Amino acid sequence: MTTEIADCGAAGVSKAVELLKKGAVAAIPTETVYGLAANALNANAVRDIFKAKGRPQDNPLIVHIASIKMLPPLVKEIPDIAYKLAERFWAGPLTMIFKKSEIIPDVTSGGLDTVAVRMPECTAAREIIKKCGFPLAAPSANLSGRPSPTTAKHVFDDMNGRIPLIIDGGECKVGVESTVICFKEQKIHILRPGGITAEMLSEFGEVEVDKAVTAEPAKNERVLSPGMKYKHYSPKADVFIVNAHGKQFLEYCLKRSRFENGLIALGAGVAEDGCFMDYGTTSEIQAQRLFALLRKADEMNAKTVLVEKPTTDGVGLAVYNRLLRAAAFREIEPARK
Ligand code: AMP
Ligand code: MG
Repeated sequence: MTTEIADCGAAGVSKAVELLKKGAVAAIPTETVYGLAANALNANAVRDIFKAKGRPQDNPLIVHIASIKMLPPLVKEIPDIAYKLAERFWAGPLTMIFKKSEIIPDVTSGGLDTVAVRMPECTAAREIIKKCGFPLAAPSANLSGRPSPTTAKHVFDDMNGRIPLIIDGGECKVGVESTVICFKEQKIHILRPGGITAEMLSEFGEVEVDKAVTAEPAKNERVLSPGMKYKHYSPKADVFIVNAHGKQFLEYCLKRSRFENGLIALGAGVAEDGCFMDYGTTSEIQAQRLFALLRKADEMNAKTVLVEKPTTDGVGLAVYNRLLRAAAFREIEPARK
């Protein structure tokens, strides 16, 4: 199969809609990361997403809608708080989990009796959903395990020959996947941190962060969000989080780079020199750049990537959560040596 890249104007949108209506898979831009989309209500189409990605079948997909009107048929009930959050944060990077209705195929929900739903902010994505007239299941458009794609080129690098079409909407604005929440004992329970932060959600009720966000699940432990248990987001290089900042981070990386080939260091606001690459001084910029830099490290044949530990408040929690999985939870403490 040849993979076409089309821009997100009217012609590209029509092409995507035509394919999706036939039950095919197409990659679309969103404000978080690129999505690999198919009709969420068509089990065969959704199965092809899993095939293209090589994603484990027990990892459910997020269902994307274009208007609040599309929500009620997908779910059994909508708690009041969900309406309030939708009003404030939709269209945007917030995914909410509901009891699923009968029209959601098991393959979409990974066999769970719940369904994850969000309304993307990206105009092209909403336009495509609206023209299709059905919701789109759309996980990140990377091969399973690889860093999520934040440009059409990243999608092409992973999906060339596996899907017919990629719609190019430029660089993703947020750069990490949506915040995923469920409602548990009257609380807003964060399963995956993202662009809508715990601080922002706390205006609407008590917020708790699932322990799997920052802790490694024990083998065979049942996790609330199946995606949490997999090694994820990783480049081919070995990634380590380094809990040191400023001069201490620079010195630690420089010392190692004298003895190791293929070492790359991502520092917050470092001068781009030698092995150093800058991943930004705010959490928002770090989120936007992180996956692109991990992919760049691969292109440079890096063997090891050392990343300065991000702050963990605001969007920083999402950056730290993705890094922990890219690093298989390995954190280095230079000060303790
Ligand atoms: P992705 O599609 O790659 O953005 O990943 C979707 C994330 O949402 C994964 O971590 C899933 O495990 C999680 N998710 C999707 N649906 C559900 C659900 N019904 N219950 C819990 N987690 C879900
Ligand atoms: Mg993903």
